Amino acid sequence: MRLHWHRTDLRPSDNLALVAPDDDPILPVYAFDPRILSHAAPPRVAFVIDSLAALRDWYRQRESDLVVVRGRAPDELARLAEASDADSVSWAQAYSGLGRRRDDRVRECLDGMGVDTHVVHDHLHHEPGSITTNQGDPYSVYSYFWKKWKDREKRGSVQAPGADRLATPRSDTSIPTLEDLGFDRPEAEIPPGGYTAARHRLNDFCSGPIYDYGDARDDPAADATSRLSAHLTHGTVGVRTLHDRVVRARETAPDDEAREAVETFRGELAWREFYHHVLYFNPEVVTENYRDYENPIEWRDDPEALQAWRDGETGYPIVDAGMRQLRAEAYMHNRVRMIVASFLTKDLLLDWREGYDWFRRKLVDHNPANDNGGWQWAASTGTDAQPYFRIFNPMTQGERHDPDATYIKRYVPELSDVAPDLIHDWHELSPTQRRRTAPEYPAPIVDHAERREQALAMFERARGEADD
Ligand SMILES: Cc1cc2nc3c(=O)[nH]c(=O)nc-3n(C[C@H](O)[C@H](O)[C@H](O)COP(=O)(O)OP(=O)(O)OC[C@H]3O[C@@H](n4cnc5c(N)ncnc54)[C@H](O)[C@@H]3O)c2cc1C
Repeated sequence: MRLHWHRTDLRPSDNLALVAPDDDPILPVYAFDPRILSHAAPPRVAFVIDSLAALRDWYRQRESDLVVVRGRAPDELARLAEASDADSVSWAQAYSGLGRRRDDRVRECLDGMGVDTHVVHDHLHHEPGSITTNQGDPYSVYSYFWKKWKDREKRGSVQAPGADRLATPRSDTSIPTLEDLGFDRPEAEIPPGGYTAARHRLNDFCSGPIYDYGDARDDPAADATSRLSAHLTHGTVGVRTLHDRVVRARETAPDDEAREAVETFRGELAWREFYHHVLYFNPEVVTENYRDYENPIEWRDDPEALQAWRDGETGYPIVDAGMRQLRAEAYMHNRVRMIVASFLTKDLLLDWREGYDWFRRKLVDHNPANDNGGWQWAASTGTDAQPYFRIFNPMTQGERHDPDATYIKRYVPELSDVAPDLIHDWHELSPTQRRRTAPEYPAPIVDHAERREQALAMFERARGEADD
């Protein structure tokens, strides 16, 4: 008997660890570990619960079942291994420091009992350490990483195990509710989880929108991206299935422009792998700057500004629209994530860790690799980050990427009857004009031009370049 420990691989097919090369009957298990749950938040737990129900149904249709346990993973897996007389336990490699420490504890515990462990790279096409500079170091510049990633051969997807490989558990298979686990209901509407929902989304995206991805992906109103991030984070779609489908779309692309758009999309999949490699080799980045400055960056402490940012009440329409999309959908468009992250760090001059922590609590797709990569990019503290002197102007970003203010109006109803040019000029209107135009919508809480200068000075001090 082999236990398969599902974690962020909540799918039956294209699961390399589940179909590990042995003939032992497989007993699938999921563990709600309080140590891991203490870093979780309602949107993600809700998505996981939904995805577990779909996975359990798949096993039940094959006269097997999914064992669901609550407790510390090492204890629970040891108990189950003993109770089911398992010879081995399989799982997919974790890449964060927290995940790897937990896995070490499980491994030690099982080693002590003489139970084998079978750990497989599954979440990435190319495992950390396999794409390196010619000196064998991990890349810190994405474009070089991409050059190797894009042409490196990728393994194709693998089938789910047959029903004859699955064992029938005698243990508890009931899935706890959010309340059972001590979580409140998420304030956002959470998209459906599960491997079938992922498959539908992938097919929908690859049968049309992928061909416009090159142009439309930066338009937050267009809904032109795949919205697969939660599925990739929780493993309801396998990376090989995704890539096979994307390559098929490339083969059937109507023209060169469409083919290029598919390649742009593959580039985003490579960013995901790049940030996973960065996290693997630098687990401390979840709390520390990747990039050292000579002096500490003097982030401000301003709880009121932080709260206004969280609530989408900064008086900068594109920022507020993004922050409200996050509250409503547990998701935010990538371009707007970049804008709100830049605003927090370069306009409010607040520490990126505040933003990262809020995203961790609110995003359904949060994973430490991408989230940290995105935050440290915006804060100019990361690998291959935005240079500190390139500061997004939130008004021109809004005007460029949401010219008709369609996205802004969707999430900021106070501005729904306001002409787009007034929305994009909101910071320039007089208090009286603002009151007349949209009395419920706040005035800008900071002056962008002033804050830009202060941000530059803050980074120059950190770089040891400021004249005192
Ligand atoms: C401040 C900040 C925080 C972010 N936090 C997260 C996070 O917690 N989880 C997360 O998955 N992504 C995060 N991203 C990256 C990106 O915003 C999301 O992956 C994307 O918006 C998800 O929407 P989608 O699935 O429609 O993306 P698509 O555009 O359809 O892209 C397909 C997939 O490629 C990957 N991807 C796309 N853009 C990026 C990127 N810039 N970096 C790394 N991978 C990327 C994602 O897995 C995504 O699902 C963050 C970006 C920023 C700037």
